[in-house]
Amino acid sequence: MKTVGFIGLGNMGGPMALNLLKAGYSLKVFDLAPAALKCLADAGATTTASAFDAANDVDVLITMLPSSPHVKKLYIGESGLLNNISGQPLVIDCSTIAPDIAKEVSKAAGKRGFEMLDAPVSGGVAGAEAGTLTFIVGGSDNALEQGKPLFEVMGKNIFHAGDHGAGQVAKICNNMLLAIQMIGTAEALQLGVNNGLDPTVLSNIMNKSSGNNWPLEVYNPYPGVMDNAPASREYEGGFLVDLMNKDLGLAMEATLSSMSSTPMGSLAKSLYNLHSTQGHGKLDFSSIQKLFDKSI
Ligand code: NAD
Repeated sequence: MKTVGFIGLGNMGGPMALNLLKAGYSLKVFDLAPAALKCLADAGATTTASAFDAANDVDVLITMLPSSPHVKKLYIGESGLLNNISGQPLVIDCSTIAPDIAKEVSKAAGKRGFEMLDAPVSGGVAGAEAGTLTFIVGGSDNALEQGKPLFEVMGKNIFHAGDHGAGQVAKICNNMLLAIQMIGTAEALQLGVNNGLDPTVLSNIMNKSSGNNWPLEVYNPYPGVMDNAPASREYEGGFLVDLMNKDLGLAMEATLSSMSSTPMGSLAKSLYNLHSTQGHGKLDFSSIQKLFDKSI
């Protein structure tokens, strides 16, 4: 069985690594947070003292880090992983980062003879735990074939978006749409509540009507409507406002560089900025409901 190095064991990386472990892969793991490491150690993974130790002599190296600077710093430069690890792993970065950085890291990997994929995911923490993530992959056919058995353990849908960086472009478009849907859902629910409707009744109606969308189906932003949604645990865990803000920033960069027009995305970025500056950056992104109801 293949040995996998896994770096970044947060809300997403933790459960993804656990699923690989359960499927019988041998795992060497590293995270800067001791609590995240302990969780994997308890499940039987080999924990390491540094990213280098986790990445040395493995068949596949997976990273799941917060953002572009984290990925660039880990991989690139004199002291980066690409210049220092031994072995010839397939390198898979599942973080959501700027397409240009994904291309830059892949190019550097190619120079060292490593195959690399950008493989950001969709499906949230619940999807990571259940092994039902969607992988949105950029890179060569050959590398994708090599990575497929692992994607199939951690996910349900695998899409080949195109060459290096294409996975990130698709992911950014998806998350911009998700932010717009979440804000629209929150304001519609608030309108109903302010006009005397029960949020659960309204959600059930919209779920079976033309306003239906992913937040309404599995991630309702109004507290108490869905037992297992972050809204019903005071917006703890899940997908942080700060991370959604980061993704919307990437969408705005892509908008500028391609001279596109994304007015709804731009408004979504402003609203998530505002929400973050009001002290909610570490809450789940469905907490945007608070923007419409200060009592929540
Ligand atoms: P997170 O903050 O929970 O986890 C990131 C982990 O990386 C942390 O445990 C942190 O300690 C670790 N880390 C940072 N720098 C490191 C380094 N140099 N070496 C080792 N470990 C390091 O974030 P997350 O929610 O797991 O998200 C990870 C990525 O997945 C982000 O790019 C995010 O945009 C994307 N994503 C998140 C979700 C979600 O629902 N949370 C869904 C889809 C995609």
